[in-house]
Amino acid sequence: MLLARRLNVSLASLQAAVPLPVFRETTQRFKTVHPDGSSQLAVAASIGHGLAQMLANAVEHRPPVDSISAASLRQDLLATNSAVSLDSLCGWMWSHGLPVVHVTGWPDGLRRPDAMCVRVGQRPVTMVVRKEQAPARLAYLVAHELGHVMSGHLQAANNAVLVDEALPVDDQRTFSDDDEIEADAFAMTVLGGDLLLSTCRSLLGPRYSELTLAVAALRACRDKPLDAGQVILGWGRLSEDWQLTNMALKYLMTTQSAPVVINDVAKAHIDASALSADGRDHLARLTAMELVS
Ligand SMILES: [Zn+2]
Repeated sequence: MLLARRLNVSLASLQAAVPLPVFRETTQRFKTVHPDGSSQLAVAASIGHGLAQMLANAVEHRPPVDSISAASLRQDLLATNSAVSLDSLCGWMWSHGLPVVHVTGWPDGLRRPDAMCVRVGQRPVTMVVRKEQAPARLAYLVAHELGHVMSGHLQAANNAVLVDEALPVDDQRTFSDDDEIEADAFAMTVLGGDLLLSTCRSLLGPRYSELTLAVAALRACRDKPLDAGQVILGWGRLSEDWQLTNMALKYLMTTQSAPVVINDVAKAHIDASALSADGRDHLARLTAMELVS
């Protein structure tokens, strides 16, 4: 039963005299770059599915928000925050019934996708898997997955799963399909839209060190509702000087690493008493979150 629940496998298929595990029926969409990636991603999707089901149970009392446009979401977030940051975005999602976690403990030997979203009943659950320290990059990933959710890309009949295997956070011009372009536009609007782009452009020109680039980004955000990390990331997309961009992002980091930021918010919103001891243990393995009931 444990295996069936954790891996979204049919229990009957495990109980047969000669067990032959069969995944429960889901509608899976894989945004894969490798033609042979789908079998690995099917396993990834099943892990995501088991985790999503558990997270959905932990917020059962909170109905998920209906669809919201990127512009309204940004407005909503800026009503209580000076900029859209990773923690404010995750906090908003949890308090609107949309769980989001970082799958820190991805199983060894299994291809690590960047992110996925799963619909459990009517509730979308977002999982970020990519290993990344900079909050600005994971904020983009979270906003992108939310873009898939809000644009209706999970509207299949059966427990839909969407896996983004390799999401180009640094160069979105490589997106080729409509869903990706739509989710990207949603993310960029939430994170700052035209204001973000014009601010990043205004920083082009001077020669920077990581210190002066970080300071210039912070200064540019002083009177604007923008996150300095997004400004540096946007500057990186325009200048393509990724070495300096990454150093400046590191210089800017005053919070914990991005996965910890995501899971600290999650921990504050999960009702641990709604999970079984086994569920808490499973969650701890996958997210490094220690919950006490
Ligand atoms: Zn995507």
